[in-house]
Amino acid sequence: MSRPIAIALHGGAGVLTPGMLSVEDENAIHAALLNALQAGLVILEAGGTSLDAAQASVVELEECPWFNAGKGAVFTHLGDHELDAAIMNGANLEAGAVAGIHHVRNPIRAARAVMEHSEHVLLAGVGADRFLEQQDLELVANDWYSTPLRRRQLEAQQQQPEVVSLEPGGIEKKFGTVGAVALDRYGHVAAATSTGGITNKRYGRVGDSPLIGAGTWADDRSAAISATGHGEFFIRAVVAHNIASRIRLLQTDLNTACEQVVQGELKDLGGNGGVVAVSPSGETALSFNTPGMYRAWRDADGVLHTAIYAGDDRRYER
Ligand code: ASP
Repeated sequence: MSRPIAIALHGGAGVLTPGMLSVEDENAIHAALLNALQAGLVILEAGGTSLDAAQASVVELEECPWFNAGKGAVFTHLGDHELDAAIMNGANLEAGAVAGIHHVRNPIRAARAVMEHSEHVLLAGVGADRFLEQQDLELVANDWYSTPLRRRQLEAQQQQPEVVSLEPGGIEKKFGTVGAVALDRYGHVAAATSTGGITNKRYGRVGDSPLIGAGTWADDRSAAISATGHGEFFIRAVVAHNIASRIRLLQTDLNTACEQVVQGELKDLGGNGGVVAVSPSGETALSFNTPGMYRAWRDADGVLHTAIYAGDDRRYER
């Protein structure tokens, strides 16, 4: 019997409730999620690695303006874009990440370049930009990431911060970070996460996404995890590594470990968001403590699913 493969992804979590989006927009988002899932899946089915599969899914999501990563990234307070991304290989714990970069079309490829072509794990800001200019990566002008929707969100937030885009708890209504986790035929897991961060962010703010262990983690001894949500809380709860540690040290199963952290420690701190995760034995978990999370996954029978709201489930028989 061939060994299992698995893949799951997210496009952000938040206050997503039925009726919020038009049917056309819902359909477009489901289609984008499915397209990104398939981009990773074809690689796994052809015998490719989980690292390549997770990256391919994230590239598709970065290219899609619906999501807050790559094209469609949110604006900073100063009206530009600062992108964060991380990638991790569960086979050997190699990892690469970038924070506050400005010009790489697909920030997840920038994270991969740090992992493979530098002796470092995380490069940030103008130094990272300089390193990345020397890599074989497509560069874009910073306004290439801009979309009218994100511009309106910035303006709304700058005019009426507490009313328009913050909830009573002080968080953004919808997080649009993207991420993917995968298991390949060789039993190796990988995780990839990419984001524009949070609308109106200032002072070089960096969230959890590029921080190994907070928003991104992969280890063949436990699981691959990618997170989305209010980064400050994910950093403090070290969400991704926290989940992995429960699996590795307490033998907690994947879904229980995700739920314990997302519905327990994270929520208790006041953190909103969710995770997608896969284990080396082929389990998949998608946990969130928000009303919805853009997500897609392949189940153990090979059926593909996309969903937006809690309890939502579009199935694609193959
Ligand atoms: N976690 C991301 C951050 O705090 C935001 C998101 O998930 O959309 O930067």
